Amino acid sequence: MTAPVRYQDSPTNATRGELAHFVDGRWITSEGTFPIVDPATGLEVDLSPVADGETVDRAVRAARRAFEDWGKTTPRERSEYLNALADKVSAASDDLATTESWNVGKPIANAREELPLLVDLLRFYAGAARTGDGTPTGEYERGTTSVLMRGPIGVVGLITPWNYPLLEAVWKIGPALAAGNTIVLKPSELTPYTTVALARIAQSVLPPGVLNVVLGDGSTGAAIVDHPGIGMVSLTGDGSTGKKIAAAAAATLKRVHLELGGKAPVLVFEDADIEHAAEYLAIAGFTNTGQDCTAASRIIVHDSVYEQFTGRFVEHVRRLRVGDPGDPSTQIGPLVAERQLERVLGFIDRSRASATVLAGGSRMSRPGFFIEPTVLAGLSQTDEVIQKEVFGPVVTIQRASSEDEMLGWANDVDYGLSASIWTRDVSRTFRLAKRLSFGTVWVNDHLTTVAEMPFGGFGQSGYGKELSAHSIDEYSQTKHILIRDSH
Ligand code: NAD
Repeated sequence: MTAPVRYQDSPTNATRGELAHFVDGRWITSEGTFPIVDPATGLEVDLSPVADGETVDRAVRAARRAFEDWGKTTPRERSEYLNALADKVSAASDDLATTESWNVGKPIANAREELPLLVDLLRFYAGAARTGDGTPTGEYERGTTSVLMRGPIGVVGLITPWNYPLLEAVWKIGPALAAGNTIVLKPSELTPYTTVALARIAQSVLPPGVLNVVLGDGSTGAAIVDHPGIGMVSLTGDGSTGKKIAAAAAATLKRVHLELGGKAPVLVFEDADIEHAAEYLAIAGFTNTGQDCTAASRIIVHDSVYEQFTGRFVEHVRRLRVGDPGDPSTQIGPLVAERQLERVLGFIDRSRASATVLAGGSRMSRPGFFIEPTVLAGLSQTDEVIQKEVFGPVVTIQRASSEDEMLGWANDVDYGLSASIWTRDVSRTFRLAKRLSFGTVWVNDHLTTVAEMPFGGFGQSGYGKELSAHSIDEYSQTKHILIRDSH
């Protein structure tokens, strides 16, 4: 067996006790502190500074100054910067994965899997910065020539959550820089370390002020949203936060991009490969401790295979290895924080009146914020745990009698981020994929994203797309130039 990672051996741990804001290429601190807790032990390990309005203002002014040059860079120049960033992130992968693992409580094996993906994404945006399409230059009114130009917005505010701190930062930084913007980035107050580590890397690659990082909680995020010097805010976070940001951004008419929660339905049909589906979904429902907005959290099974699927699924869930995030064999770690633990236990407790608990259901008797992987059945469509995002290791299974009922239940939630269909019937695949109201529909798969394709939700899951060349448009503005060239 591979030896567990010993976090204290990691050089990146030098950032413990050294959390600071990164503004204009320099490290600064501020009044106000937020306690950092190790999710695997529940112990407070550090204090993070919390940026106030004045610190946010310094960061925005630095980003505006940097934009004067950065906004004039050519796509090729930005592409070179992004490739240089990718090289350095790649070289620091081991340390970044180790830091992400302890700070989030993420199993080290999963943290390591994320690094090549985000390096690849930086390289994708290095290429995508140099491409683009749109209406061709032409004579659309006699005697004139119309030219379409795509340019950056200016300074963008990027606000990220705690479940994939580094991945989310890169999902936003990549297209924002490719489009020619400068950045004020705020990670979640719970998980600032890898964002700070990323800023250390950027310090040796990007001109000062192009990427600024301010640490802090919702008050810091609100100061970013309120600042008149910022032209756009992109949030990945909770629906309630998205609504606050959209309302606050109205005051300065900022563009807003929102990636919010999800409640992914998983439709398992009688002709699916049941053995494979049961094994795969036991991972897809619980990976990252279920703290994933696309988690396979709401399984709907056709009556004729319900017993077979459920029996095998529960066996696989019971075999999941829950434990120390530093152990390479661990599959499921703790929840990120006590407040999340309480929230998830609250969902489980309130469901007990109507649910049958097929697996788990309790907090584990060990330090840290561990909950057993939990499977609930016997619920009805209106139950809270079917309708609301739990964001923890809880999967529900419903028994349905027909394709129509499965489709109806799948669409009957406020969210619209992702869904999956498990079947071998090609006609059914297309019939249902057209009718499922979700931004991503997987068939015989769940969770996989690719750099080339857009990701983003409908309804209460927000608006705007991440990934793909489309997201460069999210961070751009277009201009029509019309030249009257003959009278
Ligand atoms: P959160 O909304 O509490 O926090 C997200 C970020 O917003 C944090 O950086 C936080 O400090 C900041 N924030 C909080 N209040 C703010 C305010 N008033 N103004 C500006 N910023 C503010 O969410 P979380 O608890 O960190 O993350 C979990 C949530 O994120 C879940 O609901 C999950 O579904 C969602 N999520 C969505 C996606 C997606 O791509 N759709 C991905 C990951 C997480």
